[in-house]
Amino acid sequence: MHTVVLAGGVGGAKFAAGVQSALPNPADLTVVVNVGDDFTHFGLKICPDLDTVCYTLAGLENPATGWGRRGESWRVMEAVAVLGGPDWFRLGDLDLATHLERTRRLQSGQPLSRIVADFCKAWGIPARVLPVTDDAVPTMVLTDEGELAFQEYFVHRRWQPRVRGFRFAGAENAKTAPGVLEALRVADAVLLAPSNPFVSIAPILAIPGVLEALAGKPVAAVSPIVGGEAVKGPAAKMFRELGVTPSAAAVAAHYRGLISHFVLDKTDADQAATVRDIAPHVLVTDTMMTSSAKRHALAAEVLAWVRGARDTI
Ligand code: GDP
Repeated sequence: MHTVVLAGGVGGAKFAAGVQSALPNPADLTVVVNVGDDFTHFGLKICPDLDTVCYTLAGLENPATGWGRRGESWRVMEAVAVLGGPDWFRLGDLDLATHLERTRRLQSGQPLSRIVADFCKAWGIPARVLPVTDDAVPTMVLTDEGELAFQEYFVHRRWQPRVRGFRFAGAENAKTAPGVLEALRVADAVLLAPSNPFVSIAPILAIPGVLEALAGKPVAAVSPIVGGEAVKGPAAKMFRELGVTPSAAAVAAHYRGLISHFVLDKTDADQAATVRDIAPHVLVTDTMMTSSAKRHALAAEVLAWVRGARDTI
């Protein structure tokens, strides 16, 4: 029995941590993570989604922000700001150690996936975490102000420019990281975390081989849209700017042809019938992961349901 979770950052990390805690053997979990947000800053390779997932799986995450590390301090950033350097992307003192060591190892020629595996071991993470690819596939956001690099759009411009589309630069020539296709091949369930469909899940699906590996598998998606809004971040705003009214059903429609199972929040129970036309199996439950107990409960329920241990509603 093997489970694969496809994940972005904050929503992905919380759900992956729930799955890790709900599985009898957490080594049966592979989390495949988006790398489209990765960028170079101060000469350092920053991998925001991978780090959020790893910190959360290790219990090192900052519960106040959902990203970065618990007990963080900001002395380096403060000193950079005094010098007039860029401080729009916040790098904490502890977090900097991750970027320094990752960059050093990348520069010595090691692939990202091996570095992540070693970091996970050092942090005591029982699940396996894989970047979807070791290649650079930066997400570009097409906006009404032109094409913006992802972090320029997301953090620097606080996702305010209007979105027209996305481009995953170089995806067509990228190779999945070692282990990704094998994990998908042996998986008896693939779970799409409640991550942003456009900039967290789509860049994973864009790497050649991933979509093909999902064909014929039970694939369950958890809606990141609850009550017509994103729990956090720009997912609902992106739907609107692309001409779609944001809703759980809109997320299901976005994944049409890919998913067999869809999980929507109890707030959106009235959309279950609409969603059932897209995915035959629909679960209505509390999807708000506001505590580790709640993320565990959601993951346990979804796992049992996908494995057919209980009837769909
Ligand atoms: P990012 O890369 O840090 O933006 O993270 P993700 O793409 O993984 O997660 C962002 C998405 O997670 C947003 O669209 C949120 O609506 C969703 N999200 C965050 N927390 C929760 C939660 O507790 N429940 C649900 N259903 N969605 C959530």
